[in-house]
Amino acid sequence: MTEIKKFDAVVVGSGLGGLAAGALLAKAGYSVCLLERNFSLGGAASVYRVGGLTVESSLHQTSDARNPRDVKHSILRDLGILDEIEWLPTGALHHVRGGPVGETFALPAGFDAAYDALAERFPDKRSAIQEFLADVERIHDSLWTIRQARDTGSVAKFTRALWELAPAAAAWNDTLDEVFTQRFGGAEALKCALGANLLYFGDDPKRTWWIYYALAQGANIASGGAYIKGGSRQLSLKLAKVITKSGGVVRLGRNATAILTGADGEAAAVRHVARKTGEDEQEISARVVLANCAPSVAGELLPAPARALMEEEFGARPLSTSLFCANFGLAQKPATVGLKDFNAIVLPETMTRFSQYGDGAGALGADPAGALPLYSIANFTAVDSGLWDEPPVLVSLLGLDNISNWDGLSREQALARRERWLDALQGAMERDYPGFAGLVSERVMLNAFSMAGYLNTPRGAVYGFEPLPPEDPIIAGFPRTPRTPVAGLYLASAFGGEHGFNGAILSGAEAARLAAASLESGVE
Ligand SMILES: Cc1cc2nc3c(=O)[nH]c(=O)nc-3n(C[C@H](O)[C@H](O)[C@H](O)COP(=O)(O)OP(=O)(O)OC[C@H]3O[C@@H](n4cnc5c(N)ncnc54)[C@H](O)[C@@H]3O)c2cc1C
Repeated sequence: MTEIKKFDAVVVGSGLGGLAAGALLAKAGYSVCLLERNFSLGGAASVYRVGGLTVESSLHQTSDARNPRDVKHSILRDLGILDEIEWLPTGALHHVRGGPVGETFALPAGFDAAYDALAERFPDKRSAIQEFLADVERIHDSLWTIRQARDTGSVAKFTRALWELAPAAAAWNDTLDEVFTQRFGGAEALKCALGANLLYFGDDPKRTWWIYYALAQGANIASGGAYIKGGSRQLSLKLAKVITKSGGVVRLGRNATAILTGADGEAAAVRHVARKTGEDEQEISARVVLANCAPSVAGELLPAPARALMEEEFGARPLSTSLFCANFGLAQKPATVGLKDFNAIVLPETMTRFSQYGDGAGALGADPAGALPLYSIANFTAVDSGLWDEPPVLVSLLGLDNISNWDGLSREQALARRERWLDALQGAMERDYPGFAGLVSERVMLNAFSMAGYLNTPRGAVYGFEPLPPEDPIIAGFPRTPRTPVAGLYLASAFGGEHGFNGAILSGAEAARLAAASLESGVE
């Protein structure tokens, strides 16, 4: 080991949660060192090349951060990067077809527009739709008010937020399926129209917390969906730049191999090695450590007593779903074969109820046969992304996956099955957009194993922990926090809060707030 460096905060991982936490702490004047084992920034929020194809690794859409009530707005504004990023509106939140929905339904952005479209398609449920959307909007707004109350120390605002949350209180412990059924009975097409994009935060409506849905969909409807010009990597680069411009350090290709603890069991230092060689061990002493890596990964890096505490706290929590992503590179823009919208979600013809949403998650455990599981299509050239002006032009198909689908296969067997799934998905695209197959010049399929390998996330979980409803009543507060049982160690990732770009950034911001408080108080 060479020298030991000293920083206020060490961040393990450059996913959006780690970058947001690092940027906020660095901007606040703390010395920050961020370590990333990969050779590119951003974790899931990155853009890379496979052969000749440029691939967006995660972002299909996020709520448009330009809306002052968007959860990312004030964080990115305070970091000075909100306006440096070009947010490209993606149009309707989703176009869903097949299953109980049949002909395409487009869910527009904006609560009034969403109501109009839903009421026109499902006129007998008008009043239930209106009440439901009003509750979603209130839950979304109350979160904003609670944050404002905290930032300004306003008791009046906090009371207002609690009043806004009243409708949620009644259903605080319910699943999405329960709330949909209470509100809409057996109107399965309506449920699918409202929940078609569930795969962007969960898989099974019978296990997904309804408040999670309300927060995610509320943000989407309130702000509209957006892609980022230049891809998600731009957001990661801008956040990293805040760290380096504030005097911090960002190191790629550095694998954290140990989190050392001090005399009182507090996180006190991080060891890391070069990813390529496993050598060049270095140590950084830190007053706080922010784990952007999964809690199980952080646990394994800790000495036995702290590891046991992490295991006790997090070990039994079910993980979120993983995803497959079939990326096709086309010789021409997909509009030439009729694929014009930014996104479309295709439900299987065999699906008759929304509660069956997660049933296809095991489909990739065998070769394709019969109806395909549901998938979402991202057509990036529907916006001026700046990435695919020249062929090959990316179209990505996203669906649910589970690492157990691939257990026990040799590398060759897994690759062969991936090819057969690419054939099946390409066949479905050819059926719906004749001429599509003839345009395909490159293709690559990522699965739960790819996610686990690239992100070092357990079982390929892409959204942190499974968004299960809490067992405690609303008075116990939001059931996720970046706090860990190890002093000075915080979760700055989707595991510390909610899923997705919004969840990871919020969790990073909350982790930074807690870390800063402990740095200020000197009690780490
Ligand atoms: C295919 C796909 C599509 C998605 N689509 C969307 C979407 O459209 N909209 C949306 O909002 N969200 C989407 N998501 C989800 C979203 O991308 C993630 O929830 C979010 O980016 C997770 O960020 P994170 O900070 O939790 O960490 P991650 O992005 O998981 O990053 C963790 C980082 O930690 C690093 N790390 C782990 N261990 C170590 C170690 N020992 N040393 C150093 N570094 C380490 C990893 O290499 C990785 O870079 C998608 C995800 C995927 C995979």
